[in-house]
Amino acid sequence: PQQLTADVVVVGAGPAGLNAARHLAAAGRDVVVLEARDRVGGRTWTDERDGVTLEIGGQWVSPDQTELLGLLDELGMTTYPRHRDGENVHIGADGVRRTYRGDTFPVPDSTAKEIARLTELVDDLVAAVGATEPWAHPRARELDTISFEDWLRRQSDDEEACTTVALFIAGAMLTKPAHAFSTLQAVLMAASAGSFTNLTDECFILDRRVVGGMQSVSQRLAADLGDRVHLATPVRTIRHGEDGVVVESERVTVRARRVVVAVPPPLFSRIGYDPPLPRRQHQMHQHLSMGLVIKVHATYPTPFWRREGLSGTCFGTSTLVQEVYDNTIHGDDRGTLVAFVADEKADAVFALPEDERRARILASVAQFLGEQALDPLAYYESDWGSEEWTRGAYAASFDLGGLARYGADQRTPVGPIHWACSDLAAEGYQHVDGALRSGRAAAADVEAALT
Ligand code: FAD
Repeated sequence: PQQLTADVVVVGAGPAGLNAARHLAAAGRDVVVLEARDRVGGRTWTDERDGVTLEIGGQWVSPDQTELLGLLDELGMTTYPRHRDGENVHIGADGVRRTYRGDTFPVPDSTAKEIARLTELVDDLVAAVGATEPWAHPRARELDTISFEDWLRRQSDDEEACTTVALFIAGAMLTKPAHAFSTLQAVLMAASAGSFTNLTDECFILDRRVVGGMQSVSQRLAADLGDRVHLATPVRTIRHGEDGVVVESERVTVRARRVVVAVPPPLFSRIGYDPPLPRRQHQMHQHLSMGLVIKVHATYPTPFWRREGLSGTCFGTSTLVQEVYDNTIHGDDRGTLVAFVADEKADAVFALPEDERRARILASVAQFLGEQALDPLAYYESDWGSEEWTRGAYAASFDLGGLARYGADQRTPVGPIHWACSDLAAEGYQHVDGALRSGRAAAADVEAALT
């Protein structure tokens, strides 16, 4: 392998790693970035499929994501709003399709009241616990040892209200079933976006997109770093000691003083460490796992739903597809919808032959938006679970009890090894904004250690 030396090595050229490298380079440090894939951007990826430019991974920006918004400004990049004019569609527990406006679902009055009451309860917890150190709250262990599913049912016996509130965090965010993560983990997810109400307001959380696609943020950062970024270079081993690190891949070996590992936490243990990581990290890293969601893209000759006065925004708790949005690309006359199938429903359709999966998913979209949805010009399923260097979507979270037990140590360096990822962030947790924040924080820790 090529032998290099640097002050700092960054493993992973997603937004977290690239932002760490950018800050270290700006501080005058000699940085090398090693990326496994033949592209930068990690879980943000803009690519063409059947003549349509798609954002296969992360794409939306919300007003609370000030780190990302600030970077976009600094890079002179612009955003555009998601199309949302017109009526939304909801399919409730009764299986009936109803259109509505505003952010209250057309459910029975008593259920609407329960949803509002549960929302207030979650908002109160979120305000009390916060995103920065949820594990430090006096009720952390109590909230971390009850699943969000059970907690909701202890608060309310309205089943539809419980599944609706659960959906905003389970299927729509952590992409795990609500029985598989704790109430504390749910609170962190909501707190990281400012409040639970923000998460339930799609006009807030799915506000804008980046002109040119979200991956272009990483591409711009990488361009500034130039030949310090090495692609197709999976890191296999990190040797570490008091005098620094030797970071090894098949193509390049870099000797440096510090390393920032900026990969999804379930992949921390794809790298070998010599000496091995401490017991705490060995244990903790086994309690972080990726969710699973299929992001489905369907493009039509025109955005036909708009002619019918529909926004393209659809929600269903009992349907295969849980959410649909108008995802028409900036400057494109064709209409694109994006639809999501999460966790156990994703498992079920992934078990089907490709044609049958496509037919079931489009039939589910057609329940919301009509028969025209059955026949797209182009159709594509983002399948991050099959990607060796990601292994799921959107992101990683702790299992029941893990956040209270390990959270305080998740970013603690091990000697010269630092950790960064959106999945270890507070504000912007599991989002590009959190990735950037976590990269900046790791760079500051490295800088403090080096001076
Ligand atoms: P990643 O983006 O995962 O980058 C990690 C990098 O490390 C990757 O490039 C990987 O190839 C590399 N790597 C892994 N192992 C190694 C190794 N051994 N050696 C070298 N390199 C390695 N966020 C939003 O803000 N808005 C959204 O709308 C949104 N939607 C999403 C939709 C989907 C389908 C997905 C998958 C994600 C979405 N996200 C969204 C989340 C967002 O994309 C992530 O939070 C963000 O990309 C995380 O950045 P990161 O740098 O922490 O990790």
